[in-house]
Formats: sequence, C-alpha cells, structure tokens
Amino acid sequence: MRNLIIKEVNARYALGKSRMKELNYVFNPYSGCLHGCLYCYAIDYSGNAIADNWGNIIYVKVNIIDLLKREINKNIRGIVGISSITDPYIAIEARYKLTRNAIEILYKNGFYVTVQTKSPLILRDMDILHHNNIDAGITITTLNKKISDLIEPYAPSPESRMNTLVKLKNNNIKTWLFLGPVIRNINDGIDNIEKIIKSASEYNIRIIYDKYNNYNGASRYMKSVNYLLSDNKWWNNIESNIIRLCGEYGVECTDENNEKEYEMNKIQKKLF
Ligand code: SF4
Repeated sequence: MRNLIIKEVNARYALGKSRMKELNYVFNPYSGCLHGCLYCYAIDYSGNAIADNWGNIIYVKVNIIDLLKREINKNIRGIVGISSITDPYIAIEARYKLTRNAIEILYKNGFYVTVQTKSPLILRDMDILHHNNIDAGITITTLNKKISDLIEPYAPSPESRMNTLVKLKNNNIKTWLFLGPVIRNINDGIDNIEKIIKSASEYNIRIIYDKYNNYNGASRYMKSVNYLLSDNKWWNNIESNIIRLCGEYGVECTDENNEKEYEMNKIQKKLF
C-alpha cells in the first residue's frame, strides 16, 4: 500500500530557463512525480525529501498560475516544455488543472508549448491541444508490461499510453513518441525496440529517442533492477539499429540531441 504525501506549496517562479537546448523555458506545476520511474533524472533536481521517497511525495505549486500570468509579459516568446521534472498529467492534475490552465495561458499569449506525459489524462485537454502552437508527446519505453512495471512502477501501462497517442493523433494533434530512456539490459532488446517502431509506423507517428544517462539520483533506485551502465560502444550499436528500423518502417526518427535542429526547422521558423 502506497503512503502518498501531497503538499500544497508556493513556487517562486513559473517559467524556468531550460537546460535542454530544444526548449527556451520549462514549466513544472508539481515537484516530484507520482509515476515513480526508477530511471528518472528529476530525482537529482527534486530536493532530499522528494528524492528520498521518490514517487510518493508531491508538492503542488498552487500559486503557479498567478505567477505565470504575471511573468507572461516579461519574457520573450519561445518554446515552453511541460514538464521537465514531473509528469504534467499525474493523477492529481485532474483536480488542480494547473497544466491545463498553463497551456491555455501560454498558447494564447504566443508561446509554443510542447507537452510530454505518460498519462491518458492528457485526453481531457484535447479541446485545446490541437492549437497550431502545441505538440504533445507520449513516452513509451517498452510495450512489455512486465518491463514497464519493473522500471515505471506507478505509471500508466504501455498499452494505455499507445492508445492515448493514437487518440491524440486521430484528433489531429501534433504528436510524437518518446522512445526512451533506452536502458542497457532492460529495454534495449531489438524486439522491444522494433515493436515500438512498428506501432509508430502504423499510425505515422514521429519518434524521438534517447539513452539512459547514468544519473546519480536514479542509481540508488536502479540498483534494484539488473541494468548495466550505458557506454558509447553499446549505444552506437543500439542507435544504429534504431535508425535502421526507422528506415525500414518509414518512421521519422530524431535523436534527442538533434531535436533542437528539428524544432528550428519545423517550428521556430514559422513562429519567431
Ligand atoms: S513520468 Fe517522467 S517525470 Fe515522472 S517519474 Fe517517470 S520519468 Fe520522471
């Protein structure tokens, strides 16, 4: 039985500068994440109380929409990632609606919004997501529920994520599938990767992929699974297989590191 702690707090700011080169800003309505993925790099950025009990403590930034309204005119327009250190559609978003309110404020004020989640709760917001300045990605590390249960213990099932992605796509929302992190000895089997790429090809969905990056905070949780550290030789082999399979199935694939160039070509040119 999970003992969840949900605490309402006041944030100091709404829009953070992004460390990811493909984004200008990040918006994180919650600290911590109820999905509790063992590999999550956000453990390193979440403070001790949350990191020590990963997946079970959430801070809700109850003033963040007021802050966003104040900040919106002070920042130059750019691409906002929702979110970088939490999943913006964890279950409590159904009640707080911080993600939904933020998306509306941002796109109506000329920002480009890119949303990433593992949760079908995103479907609640389909009425606003098909705006031209928004895209929505779903993370799928595997289509094998046993593997997902091992590394993403409280996240929605891979099947429900794929169904969510297809519904978004069928409703003309700009979508993408994040295939990652690919973790050595866990979800790096070619069969595993091929099934995801094949599914993406059936619905003409773009893939962004990335490897696991041996994060400090995650390593203490990852100890419980039989994974191996990433290295260049291993990744070069996996990546060449991803590129080959994407070619064979006719899927547009982008390495996370090259995502900025993709955004520049496909999005920023039109907007800014
Ligand atoms: S859903 Fe995303 S933010 Fe949440 S624990 Fe998993 S990887 Fe981290």
